[in-house]
Amino acid sequence: MEVDYLIIGQGLAGSLLAWELCQRNKKVLVVDNGKENASQVAAGLINPVTGMRFVKSTDVDTLLPTANHYYQQLSQYFQQAFYIEKPMLRLLRNSKELTTCQKRLCQSEYQNYLGGINHSDSNLKSEYGLLKQKQTGYLLTQPLLATLRKYFISKNAYLKAELNYKEITLPPLKWREIKAKKIIFCEGHLASKNPWFSWLPFQLVKGEIVTASSIHQISQNILNYGQWFIPLDSHTFKTGATFDRDNLNTSITQNAQSFLIQSLQQAYPRLTIDHIIEQQAGIRPTTLDKQPFIGQHPKHPELIIFNGFGAKGSLQIPWYSQCLADNLLNNQPISATSHILRYNSRIAV
Ligand SMILES: Cc1cc2nc3c(=O)[nH]c(=O)nc-3n(C[C@H](O)[C@H](O)[C@H](O)COP(=O)(O)OP(=O)(O)OC[C@H]3O[C@@H](n4cnc5c(N)ncnc54)[C@H](O)[C@@H]3O)c2cc1C
Repeated sequence: MEVDYLIIGQGLAGSLLAWELCQRNKKVLVVDNGKENASQVAAGLINPVTGMRFVKSTDVDTLLPTANHYYQQLSQYFQQAFYIEKPMLRLLRNSKELTTCQKRLCQSEYQNYLGGINHSDSNLKSEYGLLKQKQTGYLLTQPLLATLRKYFISKNAYLKAELNYKEITLPPLKWREIKAKKIIFCEGHLASKNPWFSWLPFQLVKGEIVTASSIHQISQNILNYGQWFIPLDSHTFKTGATFDRDNLNTSITQNAQSFLIQSLQQAYPRLTIDHIIEQQAGIRPTTLDKQPFIGQHPKHPELIIFNGFGAKGSLQIPWYSQCLADNLLNNQPISATSHILRYNSRIAV
C-alpha cells in the first residue's frame, strides 16, 4: 500500500487533519490503537473569554469563526449536529471579578463575546452577579470521532493498530508494508514517548469529568464557576474538569468526584443529583507555552507532528488542520508561535 500521509492517532487532531487532507484529494491512512483518548473524554467546551482576568483566548477572533464553519460543514456533510451552541453564565465570585468584567463590558473587542450582567438567579449562588457570555458551546466529540472513523473505514483509510516506532524505517519512509510520503504524528499525550519528538516540552495535565442526572429539570445554560456545568438534555449534565499535574494516569478517583460534585452544589445549591452516570479521566496534551506543536522534524522532514492542543482542542484544531494542510500542499508557512522550531535548541536526536 502507498499513501501520501500516514496519520498516527484518531483523536480530534488526527481526525480533523485526515478529513482536511481527504477533502484536498490526498490519500491518507489513519492508524489508531482504538483506546479511549482525551478527545473522547473531553467536554468539548468552547469558551472565548476565560481566566481570572476575563481575557479573550489567543487568536479567538480567527479560530472561532473557522471552528464554527468547520463543524457546520461536517454537520451538513454527515446530516448530524456536532456542535451545540449554548449561552454560558459565569458566576462572579467577588467584587474584583465584578469590577474586571464591568471593565470588559465597555471594551469594544469584547462586545461579540459578552452580553451583560444578570444580577440574580434564585437557583444559583450569585451574590456578585452572573456574566452572560456569548458564542459559547460544546462539541459532541464522541459522535464526531465515531462518524469520521466510519467515513475513513469506508474510504479504506483507517487501520486499527498500535504503531511501534521501531517498525518505522527511513528514508524512504515505510511502516510495515506501507509506504508514505510523510508520517504525521497526532498521538496526544503519548507523543511524550515518541523517540523523534519527546524533546518537546509537554506539560501534561490529567483531568476528570462526571456525567450525572437529576429528576428535576436542570438549567439550560452552561455554567462557569471555576469548574463548569454543561446541560446535555433536560435532566442530564456533565461537570468538570479537574487539573492534576502529578498523577498522569487515566484512572478515575473518588477525590475528583467529590470535588466536582461539591463545587457544583456550592454554585448551584438547588440542583438535586440523583444518579452518577459515568466518570472519565484523560490526559490533556498541554505544552510549556500553551501553544500547539506543529511542524516537521528538524532532521527528518518526512516526520511531522500535529499536537499540543492542551485544553482547547475544539477551538484550535479546525484552524490548525487547515494551516498544516496549506503548509504541506502549498508551502504556506506555519506561524512561528505554533511551529516546533521555537524549541529547536532542545533537540538531542
Ligand atoms: C478531562 C478533559 C477535559 C477536557 N475538556 C476540554 C474541553 O472542554 N474543550 C476542549 O477544547 N478540550 C478539552 N480537553 C482537551 C482535548 O481533549 C484535547 O485538546 C484534544 O482532544 C487533543 O486531541 P488529540 O487528538 O491531540 O489527542 P487524543 O484525543 O489523545 O488522541 C490521540 C490518539 O492517538 C492514539 N495513539 C497514540 N499513540 C499511538 C500509537 N503508537 N499507535 C496507535 N495509536 C496511537 C491514541 O490512542 C489516541 O486515540 C479536555 C481534556 C481532558 C482530558
